[in-house]
Amino acid sequence: MQKTKKAHNLVWFTTNLRTKDNRVLQEASKQGNSVIACYCFDPRQFSKTKYGFKKTGQYRAKFLLETVKDLKENLNNLNIPLFTFYDFPENSIPQLEREYNVENVFAQNEFTSEEITIIKAVREKLNKAQLHLYYDQFLYEPSAVFSELNKIPKVFTVFRKAIEKKLSVSRVLTIVSQQAPELENLTKIPTIEKLGFEDFNKHPNSAFPFNGGETEAIKRLKHYIFESKKIGVYKKTRNGLVGIDYSSKLSAWLANGSISARTIYWAVKEFEKTHFKNQSTYWLIFELIWRDFFKYIALQHGNSIFKLEGISNKTYEWSLDQYAIEAWQNGKTAENFVNANMIELNKTGWMSNRGRQNVASFFAKTLKLDWRIGAAYFESLLIDYDVHSNYGNWLYVAGVGNDPRDRVFNVKLQAERYDPKHKFQNIWLQTSLFT
Ligand code: FAD
Repeated sequence: MQKTKKAHNLVWFTTNLRTKDNRVLQEASKQGNSVIACYCFDPRQFSKTKYGFKKTGQYRAKFLLETVKDLKENLNNLNIPLFTFYDFPENSIPQLEREYNVENVFAQNEFTSEEITIIKAVREKLNKAQLHLYYDQFLYEPSAVFSELNKIPKVFTVFRKAIEKKLSVSRVLTIVSQQAPELENLTKIPTIEKLGFEDFNKHPNSAFPFNGGETEAIKRLKHYIFESKKIGVYKKTRNGLVGIDYSSKLSAWLANGSISARTIYWAVKEFEKTHFKNQSTYWLIFELIWRDFFKYIALQHGNSIFKLEGISNKTYEWSLDQYAIEAWQNGKTAENFVNANMIELNKTGWMSNRGRQNVASFFAKTLKLDWRIGAAYFESLLIDYDVHSNYGNWLYVAGVGNDPRDRVFNVKLQAERYDPKHKFQNIWLQTSLFT
């Protein structure tokens, strides 16, 4: 790396991989020094968990590589070089501090244990640079939410009504271009092989055939809202199982921060102003509030969201039957609807919300398997894995979270209702016979 005495601000990207509406990037850009940026492909994210699954499987790994490539190009247009490493942030960031005279490091604030541990490790290894952290993954600002609510209500509707009544969503932020940098960035984005996978093609029947990155996220947003106007029927189609447009499919970009929830919110508002407003247009925002809700639950309850008894401290008999766990994972249970959904997940990294609810309920409530194993499997496979949404939903379905009822899905009835002609099941059950 070329050495320079010039002082720099460093943006440490994590799950905020965008240049638009990025508070961390904006704060770094307005504070005098030249801005540089980094992203670390942390080897811990590609290792195996105690349950034997890779923390990040091939689908999310590929999506992430596409995302970082796009981020690098978009940052380049702002004259901000993105340094990329296959290393721990607590190694790479102090190295950048030394080489580029970094005075300030800017990053997204986190509130789950693994992320907190890494932030702490970085802070401890910095020499003189100051670490500045900002919450930037919510629709509603935490400072505003916590000033209205002493405690996050356990029931979603109470939470939603309170914030909708009292708070508003901030406008999106714009980032100004920097002066051209006087340094050379020789770092390269790792290959998928370096992350431990063979390259692969997307499955032809995938309901999520999209690429990663901010550019693709904006394209999808425009398509779903303004071009196809599918948002206008979202409430009717959102329980769909087949095809690309039954729901917004924005979750994967939201999960790694290629798009902000605020950007989606204001696009919906723009659509409502220029086209029409109905229950469906509102419902997309309603779902974004669910996303916020699980983030606030994680913020308030900390590590309890990863515990077997969850945030409600309920104890059940949980099984560790390896045979049943593997049958579920491999789509070989007695329930074809569960199997089809699990095969879809295994072949594509995607599953619909209806599918997720059914397979999770079947795992935790029917088979009574330790729900954390199911959640870890989702963590590995899902392209759109998000720690708060995944663990929050699993807690909910497993009966140790926010649902006051202790519900078990009737998978057969669900299949009859949502896949009456077996269109969805046929796609994936037949696929598994031939591949
Ligand atoms: P849309 O229906 O178009 O909804 C728009 C957005 O609202 C989504 O992109 C998402 O950000 C948010 N949203 C919708 N439903 C939920 C919900 N139930 N909880 C939180 N946010 C929601 N979502 C993830 O993003 N990551 C996960 O790891 C994840 N794990 C899940 C695990 C289980 C067991 C269950 C039942 C649900 C999980 N979800 C998760 C929530 C939901 O299934 C997905 O967000 C949704 O299917 C994504 O598709 P979409 O973007 O087309 O959603």
